Amino acid sequence: MLRLSGIRHLYGARVALALERFEAGAGEHWLVHGASGSGKTTFLNLVAGLLTPSEGKIEVGGEPLAKLKGSALDRWRGRNVGIVPQKLHLVRSLSVLQNLLLASYMAGLPSNHARAAELLEKLSLKEKAAAKPHELSHGQAQRVAVARAVMNRPKLLLADEPTSNLDDANSVQALDLLQNQAQECGATLIVATHDQRARARFEKRLELIT
Ligand code: ADP
Ligand code: MG
Repeated sequence: MLRLSGIRHLYGARVALALERFEAGAGEHWLVHGASGSGKTTFLNLVAGLLTPSEGKIEVGGEPLAKLKGSALDRWRGRNVGIVPQKLHLVRSLSVLQNLLLASYMAGLPSNHARAAELLEKLSLKEKAAAKPHELSHGQAQRVAVARAVMNRPKLLLADEPTSNLDDANSVQALDLLQNQAQECGATLIVATHDQRARARFEKRLELIT
């Protein structure tokens, strides 16, 4: 499903990530862990095609990402990759429902109201459909970000530090939600975190060393 080989990524002269080989199968749930600065966010951005590696090759579903450029890459990402960024990046001026529908629009797909309604119902957000992001609790905002990420039933679901600033009970809920939604889409899940509490939940782990 996902294969990285001979990857090095540099910012200026500094190597931020070096990874000889990494493979994740369809539907697998992976934890990418390591200290702050070890390259976890860089790893996710490379896999999502938001960054181009300085060296090496990334393939998703047998397709090399390097083949995709510009709007074709954006459309591919919108249809195949769900991203829950660390700072959720909900659009402040749009309602919860509009934030979800934006995911279809960005992928060049027709607005899928039925899918949005299904997710709002499943993630206990129905009453918040018309609310703006600033009217949500952190937990609700995070659920909206997860819902937006899975709107188009991605093959890959990526989450960056999804448990940061959460107490134990909420961090369990956040990881449950990601794992359940990934399973529901049959997506490969990759959670990047320095949070030790997440370790025990993932059999498949990639440790990045600074
Ligand atoms: P992590 O998510 O594990 O904390 P990052 O991938 O954010 O790690 O960063 C890895 C290294 O690359 C760090 O040393 C960080 O300072 C550096 N880095 C990350 N993004 C940039 C950038 N845009 N420009 C320059 N250096 C960066
Ligand atoms: Mg990070």
